[in-house]
Amino acid sequence: QEKVVFSLNDLMDQISAFVYPRLLELNVSLKQELEQNLFVKGVQEEIRQVIINIIFNAIEVMAAESSEAVIHIKGYRKDGKIVLETSNTGPKIPDHLIKSIFEPFVTTKKTGTGLGLYVSKEIIEKHNGKLFCRSNDDWTTFTIILNAYDKQE
Ligand code: ADP
Ligand code: MG
Repeated sequence: QEKVVFSLNDLMDQISAFVYPRLLELNVSLKQELEQNLFVKGVQEEIRQVIINIIFNAIEVMAAESSEAVIHIKGYRKDGKIVLETSNTGPKIPDHLIKSIFEPFVTTKKTGTGLGLYVSKEIIEKHNGKLFCRSNDDWTTFTIILNAYDKQE
């Protein structure tokens, strides 16, 4: 598949529209703070798949909780990179688990495949980027870092 320069802002609009019914159904609020003109280079469908995976994981973990469910997505440029952080409220991922969540077949769900994050990391690394996770008692955050591009490239 061809790598092209595309707008992450436009992609996030598509993704928001796609996940919106699910958010509404499960009473999850989505807050987005994206700087304008975030351009990345890659296979758009693949990057879309990664972001949707991360959002669906967040929705699933919060659906299992009774506390307030919020997803906060932040996108900004930093040092020639684009940083996209997806945070959700919910329980801290235990230290022993967080070490292995990007490995294939690691799941805590009855019917999970444990492949979502593994495939996501493969995709982001194929795009010369990084994908990692941090978790504390308040928030779990998945961060995607990709090279920033200019629109015309
Ligand atoms: P699956 O969704 O099939 O379980 P994933 O690779 O997408 O596989 O995720 C692996 C595991 O990582 C999940 O089963 C869950 O335990 C943990 N996980 C992923 N995202 C989150 C999150 N936002 N909060 C807490 N745990 C998470
Ligand atoms: Mg998953």
